[in-house]
Amino acid sequence: MQTKRNISYDWQNNTVLIAEDADMNFLLLKSFLLKTKINIIWANNGKIAVDIFLENNNIDLILMDMQMPILNGYEATKKIKEIDSKIPIIAQTAFAMSGEKEKILDIGCDDYVSKPINRIELLKKMDYYINRKINHNI
Ligand code: MN
Repeated sequence: MQTKRNISYDWQNNTVLIAEDADMNFLLLKSFLLKTKINIIWANNGKIAVDIFLENNNIDLILMDMQMPILNGYEATKKIKEIDSKIPIIAQTAFAMSGEKEKILDIGCDDYVSKPINRIELLKKMDYYINRKINHNI
């Protein structure tokens, strides 16, 4: 039997859009995802995330930082969900504001992870949405 820590994911046919303005946070997420072989696209603000989403039909999942310049995660999520209401969006935030969880779900995010991000929790949540999409398409 595998321990939780040893679960290995194979997402080489999947693509995640990571919206994150802080280089170090992006690099950390990238390192968390390295072994899964998932394709990663990086947007360092919400506007770029929306623009990339409009032009790319292969994105399976979005990790959305809520605090970003130019267009924040709330506005970017609203716009992306208007384009495709089915795309899974997992918010990432430090939960510095009160009522933030409710706000994140109200705006249309499917789920959230709190910063500092726990790798196992993140991969588990991503796995849920990636597999839900695969099953949905059969
Ligand atoms: Mn940020």
